[in-house]
Amino acid sequence: MINFQYARATDVADAVRRIAAEKGAKFIAGGTNLLDLMKEDVERPARLIDISRLPLDKVEETKDGGLRIGAVVPNSDLAWHPLIEQRYPLLSSAILAGASAQLRNMASTGGNLLQRTRCLYFYDTATPCNKRDPGSGCSAIQGLNRMHAILGTSESCIATHPSDMCVALAALEAKVHVAGPSGERDIAFADFHRLPGDTPERDSNLGLDEIITAVELPARGFAANYSYLKIRDRLSYAFALVSVAAALELDGNTIREARLALGGVAHKPWRDPAAEAALRGKAANEAAFEQAAGALLRDAKGFGHNNFKIDLARRAIVRALTQAARGTPQSQSDKRIR
Ligand code: SF4
Repeated sequence: MINFQYARATDVADAVRRIAAEKGAKFIAGGTNLLDLMKEDVERPARLIDISRLPLDKVEETKDGGLRIGAVVPNSDLAWHPLIEQRYPLLSSAILAGASAQLRNMASTGGNLLQRTRCLYFYDTATPCNKRDPGSGCSAIQGLNRMHAILGTSESCIATHPSDMCVALAALEAKVHVAGPSGERDIAFADFHRLPGDTPERDSNLGLDEIITAVELPARGFAANYSYLKIRDRLSYAFALVSVAAALELDGNTIREARLALGGVAHKPWRDPAAEAALRGKAANEAAFEQAAGALLRDAKGFGHNNFKIDLARRAIVRALTQAARGTPQSQSDKRIR
């Protein structure tokens, strides 16, 4: 463990002031990922700025009929919040599919967005990794890449984003509220995380001197027809090989609106508006779901050990859409896939 300074921010303005003043400072809320990274010598912040007691701990209704979720609301509180359970059960389900109860009790909403890849080479400081040490190379491309990405990869990095919650937030078209030295701004969820390109060290478009203050959900919650299906090596406390957030609005058996986001397959939650558009107006049946899966995965590419993910993702998409259409979402307590 390295030596570091510790400070507690008194309000959002103070947090921004402190992070902007010291290159190498980091925010800490629940610390469920950052402390691991520090223990492994991957992150070496000179100062930790504790934001866990900032007044960003509420879930509030917006005037547009949506919800504003404070950045330090714990994942457990969010998953079990009555308004989330009633109006955004897709989000609740995705959160409960992730981590363990203990981690969900500590992990914050903003921190979930900013958690870093679990690529084993990223954590192994004895190996080259462009994300940890830009320009050093990527050990995964020719190495053990069973858990790695099949979409949106680059020659620099094939890591995946590890979050379940973010996959649901992508499908729900959430907005991220941030504050920085130049004021406040909103980032559409689709634009928040980045693909690796030739700068894999940057996971998101959040500035180094900015803080997430809230995540906002629009009014549309897809509460009747949704499913979060997570396929993993064991039934709990494991990252997704492939996950699917599927949400439909149906008019009888006709699809009026469709949302589809994938986890475990790319450097960010993966969506493709064209694949969703192709579902609109179609009958909700296997043929339409297969077609959407084909569209979403048309550019998928494996790297050897992870080739199986392409077919797994196709089948998971069809299954999740089928569950959503039937109104029988994947249960995160009885985890058997039906
Ligand atoms: Fe590093 Fe990305 Fe390659 Fe993993 S996939 S070794 S995180 S550069």
